[in-house]
Amino acid sequence: MLIELLEEYFQREEPHRERDYFYVSEVGKCPRQIFYTVKGFPRPPLDGQTARKLAVGEDAHRRIVQALYALGLVVAAEVPIPEGALFHGRADAIISLGGKNYVVEIKTVHPYNFDQMAIAPRRDHYLQLQLYLHYFQIPQGILLAENKATQELREFLVELDRGAVRRVLSEFEALRELIFVRGELPPLPDKSDWEFDQCKYCPFVDFCREDVAALPRPAAGEAPAEPPLLPEGRAARGLGLFDEP
Ligand code: SF4
Repeated sequence: MLIELLEEYFQREEPHRERDYFYVSEVGKCPRQIFYTVKGFPRPPLDGQTARKLAVGEDAHRRIVQALYALGLVVAAEVPIPEGALFHGRADAIISLGGKNYVVEIKTVHPYNFDQMAIAPRRDHYLQLQLYLHYFQIPQGILLAENKATQELREFLVELDRGAVRRVLSEFEALRELIFVRGELPPLPDKSDWEFDQCKYCPFVDFCREDVAALPRPAAGEAPAEPPLLPEGRAARGLGLFDEP
């Protein structure tokens, strides 16, 4: 009886914000999912358990940043990327250690992912930290991972990798043109470098399936066609114009 009340208390709608930029946390995310999010396609409310998991992650961030403050290392915390950039986001902390500044990015991770990070950080975490190093012009950073189940910590010293930054910026410039300027649905992504199967947890899976089904079938030996522009009705429904009252 208490569980139902708590579930209801924690579950929440995620507000849709008009925007023409990306979040750093979207690096590594399926581009079609980004499209459906920025175009305001309806999605189920965040369930109570997921909301509580996110709150645990936020608590861990606060606890670790507080400890960094207590150690006298923090130069700045929750540092925003300068306005007008392609990406928006806040670095968890900039610290000073041994005469050098470091951007610190804190991640709380599932035990399975934590085990996979025995020798190298996750690619999406690595690239997200690279963006902060680029925007703050700090040549080094620390990726600090906490195991969600055991609170074990793992850290990776990361140097600014200009090639990786260039590739992310150029990929997202192209995505900006596609999504925000032309309003087109990105093609199905290459999933080979995904850390996990994003489709399994995707709130837009029905829209995506419909859009894929709408593609003309290629004749034998022909390459599959690029996904079409969204039909007018779908785009309008995504913007809430066709929603049921
Ligand atoms: S179902 Fe998969 S491919 Fe489609 S938008 Fe979701 S994550 Fe992307």
